[in-house]
Amino acid sequence: MSGTFVGMPAFPKAAHEAVGNATLRGNLRHATHTIRAKRARAVAEVPDWAELREAGKRIKDHTLRHLDRYLVQLEESVTAAGGTVHWAADADEANRIVADLVKATGEREVVKVKSMATQEIGLNEALEAEGIRAYETDLAELIVQLGKDRPSHILVPAIHRNRGEIRDIFARKMGAWGRPAPEGLTDTPAELAEAARLHLREKFLRAKVGISGANFMVAETGTLVVVESEGNGRMCLTLPETLISVVGIEKVVPTWRDLEVFLQTLPRSSTAERMNPYTSTWTGTTSEDGPREFHLVLLDNGRTDTLADEVGRQALRCIRCSACLNVCPVYERAGGHAYGSVYPGPIGAILSPQLRGTQSEIDASLPYASSLCGACYEVCPVAIDIPEVLVHLRERVAQGGEVTRDGNKVVLKPAKGHAAERAAMRAARWAFARPGALRAGQRLASRTRRLHPRSLPGPGRAWSEAREMPPVPAEPFRDWWQRTRGGTEEGK
Ligand code: SF4
Repeated sequence: MSGTFVGMPAFPKAAHEAVGNATLRGNLRHATHTIRAKRARAVAEVPDWAELREAGKRIKDHTLRHLDRYLVQLEESVTAAGGTVHWAADADEANRIVADLVKATGEREVVKVKSMATQEIGLNEALEAEGIRAYETDLAELIVQLGKDRPSHILVPAIHRNRGEIRDIFARKMGAWGRPAPEGLTDTPAELAEAARLHLREKFLRAKVGISGANFMVAETGTLVVVESEGNGRMCLTLPETLISVVGIEKVVPTWRDLEVFLQTLPRSSTAERMNPYTSTWTGTTSEDGPREFHLVLLDNGRTDTLADEVGRQALRCIRCSACLNVCPVYERAGGHAYGSVYPGPIGAILSPQLRGTQSEIDASLPYASSLCGACYEVCPVAIDIPEVLVHLRERVAQGGEVTRDGNKVVLKPAKGHAAERAAMRAARWAFARPGALRAGQRLASRTRRLHPRSLPGPGRAWSEAREMPPVPAEPFRDWWQRTRGGTEEGK
């Protein structure tokens, strides 16, 4: 994944800093609560929502099971329609392909539709290194780019900014990137939107190369689909002479009939709309209309490895609606940057460690960035059991041992806690295999219960500091049973 986030501290440290920022917390709380309430109303309007959710889950599972077949069908369809398909195993390969394609046009500027996949691979930075400037055209992405910031939400990348901050960014930075903000710009939404519209319009009219992602790819016809709310995507997809789309391999669906399900669930889950204001579809190239050249870069970048994991692969069903972020109590307080990835919130906590592996400090900490309350699963329109995957990934991290730093190097060590846990389990096995010793130990624990510490020492300290230790009873259960019911401790 992108180098943008490399070296991020582990989630608890980053979250600790974010929680101390009252402005950030206020912005996030206001935004997530507003979107979540609207989403709930939009979903309640649909009587067969549960059936749609189940259908979406089944379509995605079926497609992932036969991904090889559908990707080959997609390649054939795109090629037959006049497009060119490129396969990229990782971020470096995808960036190289895109940079070479842009250079072949002789252009030094591109306009971009909002795209998670291109953020994932750090495309803008890679193009910059090749002397190519990429202009983000989605309003929130523009705010992030001008502010030299990082996105913090899948759908609303500048959710951590309020109107006053956006006004300041526009007033200070727009001039360096093109048309400056109008004099005397205020923080009213209409004025901010107009400033962005004027700034971007000259980019759309000048651009010869457009770069996009896609929400879906339809294998049967080779059609790509982008849904959006502002119309900037439509401009990028139709005005330039060359269009390059970078799309994760999991975005394929077999047929238009399958697509119909997601075009109902995605807008309601993401922006709480009945349908997206702009749904753009394109199939290869068409003479006299739209781009003359179309390239599709199919991106793996860890997806095949994720697919190989029976529990974790359900993360690939994700349609990036961001509903799970908006209901997550951890995301609401920690914000998106703490997740150290372009995929924040609950889906980021299960997707990033699978795409990138759990070797780095930040990725090893992400599966723990959750209270396992299950709200994310409840709202997910493709029924991804995020808590199940989190627990599964915690197991993977625990088995891998502790992640530590040696200078700039991240190294894996057998975790102390893990060794202590193994020792405790060995002691338990010994005691449970010897009923006499177990009974003697329980009686001793009961008699000395007033001397027991209120918290555990050593590696158990953090665990017991946040929990109340259960009191040891005055009388072991087996003794109580024998005294009150008679017979042996087995109850005979
Ligand atoms: S995991 Fe589910 S709720 Fe979260 S972004 Fe993906 S599809 Fe939406």
